[in-house]
Amino acid sequence: MNEPLSFVNPSPESPWGTYLSQVDRVLPYLGPLARWGETLRRPKRALIVDVPIELDDGSVAHFEGYRVQHSLTRGPGKGGVRYHPDVTLDEVMALSAWMSIKNAAVNLPYGGAKGGIRVDPKKLSLKELEKLTRRYTSEIGLIIGPHQDIPAPDVNTNGQIMAWMMDTYSMNVGATATGVVTGKPIHLGGSLGRVKATGRGVFVTGREAARRSGLELPGARVAVQGFGNVGSSAAELFHQAGSKIVAAQDHTGSIYNDAGFDMAELVPHVRRTGGVAGFKGAEAIGLEDFWDVNCDIVIPAALEGQIQPERARRLKAKLVLEGANGPTTTAADDILADRGILVVPDVICNAGGVTVSYFEWVQDFSSFFWTEDEINVRLDKIMVGALRNIWETADRHKISLRTATFAVACERILHARQERGLYP
Ligand code: NAD
Repeated sequence: MNEPLSFVNPSPESPWGTYLSQVDRVLPYLGPLARWGETLRRPKRALIVDVPIELDDGSVAHFEGYRVQHSLTRGPGKGGVRYHPDVTLDEVMALSAWMSIKNAAVNLPYGGAKGGIRVDPKKLSLKELEKLTRRYTSEIGLIIGPHQDIPAPDVNTNGQIMAWMMDTYSMNVGATATGVVTGKPIHLGGSLGRVKATGRGVFVTGREAARRSGLELPGARVAVQGFGNVGSSAAELFHQAGSKIVAAQDHTGSIYNDAGFDMAELVPHVRRTGGVAGFKGAEAIGLEDFWDVNCDIVIPAALEGQIQPERARRLKAKLVLEGANGPTTTAADDILADRGILVVPDVICNAGGVTVSYFEWVQDFSSFFWTEDEINVRLDKIMVGALRNIWETADRHKISLRTATFAVACERILHARQERGLYP
């Protein structure tokens, strides 16, 4: 029999279990605010929906969808929507909580939320994908909205899917509501710079961490796991800064080139073929060999739980930049710390995407759009300022950057909770 679903007793290695252990570590640094700490350990609201669609062959398929609002204390919910066959409620809960932490860490006026559908979108036609997205949007329409909760792209979702979500929500409420989702196409109220913003944030935090730890970016060797939106954008910026992208891994395979890839060839290859496998300018390596590559920087930018203890013991890098959400298990995090490998945690490292989503939302409300330069400059400034604050907190308490990010964020969330009070 399946275990009863519970917010409080997950398996420790699951994403939600990982998040809870991260909260446990920060509570001692929160002083009297720790009194409110239990609110961080439970999502405010978790919605499970059935998403039935008629397939192209006339049969009917049912998919399970979720939208979890971990916290609405500092503002509307905000967080992406993921389409993946392994999506679970546990995972979506953790992702929603990490959004609360991330949004507070960069001081955006948002709570945290996340959504997902357990589906392999690669097996659906475009028409089926549209039906799936529209039905899911209608089902979660009960709790989303420009002032309630604002979805965005995540793994396997993109601007087209955001356009369908915006259209469906707008049809249901009877007025065009561009601010209901971010990551939209530019001509539908999207923001310049949004597509590459997460990768840019990974680069900016990586550049600052490298500077503080005396690592020169020109010539630095970089390995990237996940060559989608986040991984490829970050890799391109490191390449432009003179670093060598020596290894890449995605769901199609792993590749290596000791001299660094020709990015002008690799990026179009991935766009054309759907993955890194078969790239002529590199040799294919094994899945596990990727983690043994001689490099200075590793960027996990795929899924959760990729850096487990065994891989953490082998990793050769000096710096881990968590482009993905939750890529490092708690046990592996401790091993990396013992080995003196610096980790810039997801909750600040990949916050560039939601920061430019916030810019998009603000632009939609004011119907006044900024230039790409303005967006990139503001993004850089926010990320550098947030990281500086986190670094000072880490130095002051002698704690990891992850616990320091949680400390900064949880203080903001719990302070807001205290000021709002409990209702009734
Ligand atoms: P994406 O769908 O564009 O790319 C995902 C990449 O991961 C692809 O290259 C895919 O091949 C690879 N991948 C999937 N399964 C894999 C496996 N088992 N082994 C190796 N590679 C695998 O998604 P994305 O938007 O780039 O998101 C990647 C990560 O970044 C996710 O953890 C996501 O939550 C996080 N993130 C994304 C954003 C954003 O703005 N898109 C923002 C913050 C965090």
